[in-house]
Formats: sequence, C-alpha cells, structure tokens
Amino acid sequence: KATHKEGISMKPRIGIMSRYLAKDNRFVTKAGYIYAISAVGGLPIQIPIADVADVDAIAGMVDGIIITGGADVTPLVYGEQPVPAIGPTCGANDRFEIALIHAALAKKKPVLVICRGIQDINVAYGGTLYQDNPSQISRDICHNQVAAGTERTHSAAIEPGSYMHSIAKCDTMLVNSFHHQALNTIGDGLKVSARAMDGVVEAVENADGSVFAVQWHPELLYAENPEHRAIFEAFVKRCAAK
Ligand code: MN
Repeated sequence: KATHKEGISMKPRIGIMSRYLAKDNRFVTKAGYIYAISAVGGLPIQIPIADVADVDAIAGMVDGIIITGGADVTPLVYGEQPVPAIGPTCGANDRFEIALIHAALAKKKPVLVICRGIQDINVAYGGTLYQDNPSQISRDICHNQVAAGTERTHSAAIEPGSYMHSIAKCDTMLVNSFHHQALNTIGDGLKVSARAMDGVVEAVENADGSVFAVQWHPELLYAENPEHRAIFEAFVKRCAAK
C-alpha cells in the first residue's frame, strides 16, 4: 500500500497529547509514544494544550488521538475537593483534554488512552477517581514502581470477551505501573477490560473498542512484548480504516 501520494503521507495521522511543563515553560511529549506510533505505521503529530475552543479543529485534522500520561487529574472536574495526598495537578490541561476527548468522540475518531489519560477519559464519561491509591484504598500491590519503565511489575487479568482480550489474545498479562490514582466509579458507556489482582482497574473500553484505555505504559513495553505492541497496531489499523 502506498504511504505517499504527491508528497503527502497517506499514513494515518495520530495526534499525541503533550504535557505542559511549567518549570521549563515547554510542551513536551515523551519519545516513547512517538516511537511506538512510528513503529506500527502511524504518522505521529504532537498536540499542544491550546485554546479549548479549537478542539474540534484539532480533532478534525487527525485520524485518531492518543491521550498520554502525566500529572494527577484535578478532582474539581468531577466535583470533589483534593485529599491531602494528591499530587501536582493542572486544571487547564484536564479541561482541554476532556474537551478534546468529547470532540474526537463526536467525530468518531478512535481514541487510545494511556496512564493518566484513563483517569481523564473516565471523568469525561462521568466517572470518578481515587485521588490517591495508598491512602484511600490501601492496596497490597505496588502501583507506582521504582523499577525502570521497561520492567513489567504486576499482573493484569484481561476480561474475556473484551476488545482488550481480542488484541492481547491472553487472559493475563504483565504490565508496568506508574500511577497513584485509579478509577473509582466507572463512567457510563465504559466497561472494565482489565484489573490488577487487588481489583484496581487497569483498562477500560467503550462498546465498540474505538475508545480504549490502559492504566499502564505500553509505549515503554512494545519493543519486546508483542501483546503490548498489539495495542498500538490495533489502534493505528482502526485509525487507517476511518
Ligand atoms: Mn497498576
């Protein structure tokens, strides 16, 4: 299949969210997302946190969107006050990203959601969060590993019959874990597709899998683990079909 036509790439254009780093006054996108999308035949495009009024235009320019990892979600967007153990938040980031998710859904553009993004998408669907796992739900499993990101540290049980299961083609997979927030009530229209052994939600999806979210970081695992690479392959394939 041709990937270029008259100098224009025919690869699916994948918009990848940036983060605002206040201390450096920069928008940054971690390289792993760019490499992963490139590796499976997508054209990565960085999306800055811009004017919320422009989310429709941005969603219209790409074939799919990746919501990436980052800081905690401000609990104000789901109607709660911050608990003492909450980490750094950026309300402008949250509001832009939630608006972009709604814009993508309205345009039927596939959305792949990673790490912090799973918290964002759950809020976009009307769900709530545990603001701080260790103090709020006292789990027995470490979800904020000190090991390198390429190290898989805990298991996730994949829901039979889920889109996740059709991608990973296994009942249990090993994942990395860099989150101290987790999903509480699940947004209406999402369903859980993977859980850690302590019950913490590790993946959700919508009815047709066009919205697909994982709590871990597959962009750090795809090179050596086919079941994690499959997440990006399935997503870019879906974007190409649009
Ligand atoms: Mn985890």
